[in-house]
Amino acid sequence: MFFEEMFGGMPGGGHSHHGMGGGDVDTEGLYKELEVGKNATDREIKKAWRKLCKTHHPDRGGDPEIFKKKEAAYGVLSDKEKRSLYDQGGLEAVQHGGVGGPANFADLFGFGGRRQARDTGPKKPAAIREHYTVTLEDVFRGGERTLPVTIKAADDVDVCSRCSGRGQYMETVRRGPMIMQTQRECPRCDGRGKSYSNERNVKKDLEFFIPAGVKNGDKITLHDEGHQLPDMPRGDVIVQFKVKKHAVFKRMGADLAMAKELTLVEALCGFEFLVKSLEEQQWFKIQSEKGQVVQHGDVIKIEEHGLPQKGERRSRGNLYVRFSVILPQSGSLSADAKKTIRQVLGADKVKYEMPNQALNDTREIDSGIRVKLIGLGNRPDLNGTAGVVVEANHKPGAHAVQLETGQVVSVPEKMLEILGDPVEWRSGMRVKLTGLSNNKELNGALGRIMTMDVKPGAHAVKLDNGKVVSVLSHLLEPYESNAQKKKNKKKKADANKPKATDTVEELVGEIIDMDKEVHTAAGIGHNNEDDDEEGPGGEGVGCRQM
Ligand SMILES: [Zn+2]
Repeated sequence: MFFEEMFGGMPGGGHSHHGMGGGDVDTEGLYKELEVGKNATDREIKKAWRKLCKTHHPDRGGDPEIFKKKEAAYGVLSDKEKRSLYDQGGLEAVQHGGVGGPANFADLFGFGGRRQARDTGPKKPAAIREHYTVTLEDVFRGGERTLPVTIKAADDVDVCSRCSGRGQYMETVRRGPMIMQTQRECPRCDGRGKSYSNERNVKKDLEFFIPAGVKNGDKITLHDEGHQLPDMPRGDVIVQFKVKKHAVFKRMGADLAMAKELTLVEALCGFEFLVKSLEEQQWFKIQSEKGQVVQHGDVIKIEEHGLPQKGERRSRGNLYVRFSVILPQSGSLSADAKKTIRQVLGADKVKYEMPNQALNDTREIDSGIRVKLIGLGNRPDLNGTAGVVVEANHKPGAHAVQLETGQVVSVPEKMLEILGDPVEWRSGMRVKLTGLSNNKELNGALGRIMTMDVKPGAHAVKLDNGKVVSVLSHLLEPYESNAQKKKNKKKKADANKPKATDTVEELVGEIIDMDKEVHTAAGIGHNNEDDDEEGPGGEGVGCRQM
């Protein structure tokens, strides 16, 4: 049983004794546990307990096992009746003669003590439910608090004379020829079947601990701190926590997140800022790494600067900071400043990566196309590997890709970046062999297509060393010399520029709030919201030609 487990190891713990006042029963151990004398007053016991809490509470780094013992000792000595039983007959007396054993707080702070068999004996009165609002700082630090509660107490119990202890009575009502019987709750005893003498409300200040890492809605049960009615065990108080929003940190489990705005200069040249920690009198100075440029929307992670995990104070979550990069306001840059900025930050001066331009790729993935693997979470080692689609859509939304290593893998479409258009093979074309798994030594060999389609999907290639081999087209890569590459690049760039004969309309847009924007209706009789997709008969009723 819990009780014996708790004190089993104590010197002189007299378990063999039955009955009260046996010869060498230990009636001092609990006092020693609380570090008070046998004649300590209630006040002194309380004071000693508070002092011990400050050093031994697990939320303050104390050993949970030691704390459990002290807590159980306090549970006995702070209760007049239990203390008197203990003084007479030690723990055994408390256990057998008490009002249901010592208070078991073990599950209070989640360190896994087991509950006593509570369903034996009379039922407890309903628990008192209280709400307690804590700040994020409280969640971080934990700590002792007091909560005023009002409990019910009474001196004695009587059977209710109105309902004779049944709690309810039958009320008979005559309505014309009908006699109706209704069962009603006894108003005198509120259905309890008994009444208490000198029933009264008692105000008391409950002491409890905010468990570090507590979450919104978490509850703790303060056992035996509730109603004290003469014929029942003591009731419980259940405290439910509400965690207030914090001005800076947003909570995500044991992690903390915050947003930080940086000026363009800070984003480019480095930043440094102070954040008040949840710990008292502590601040964080968060700064950029050397050479780091922060992109708008970047998130940094600072490990173990979040909240303690509940029940595991030593383990802490992370702190995440999401950056917004704020650019100077329109009209605030002088002509000189712009000139300098162009000189310093022009696309020809520094490196820019514009990944979103790749998202505008409208090319379809087809067999034979060259791709690069990107964003694979389960095989990060394969990211950046190039390959050729050997079977497009071999599964819905996924393509079979032969990698340069020869391995064929199934890759979801969104994890493929198109490297080149499907190749139009032709005789005489310069090619490089790649991804051969049976003749690995030929990978990288250069040659020229001699005969097309010598076998299904394979071309005869005359290698530069004179040898002729038959190679499947997905193991071939068009080869361009550097000069050719340059020429093709220029050709491509020219295709994205207007020709001399094209007209160019000059436009200037206005910055708007997209959330408040009302879209222009598509037109009379057109009720389709999604303009790109016109379903069958999507012309709209109003437009139908009769
Ligand atoms: Zn009654």
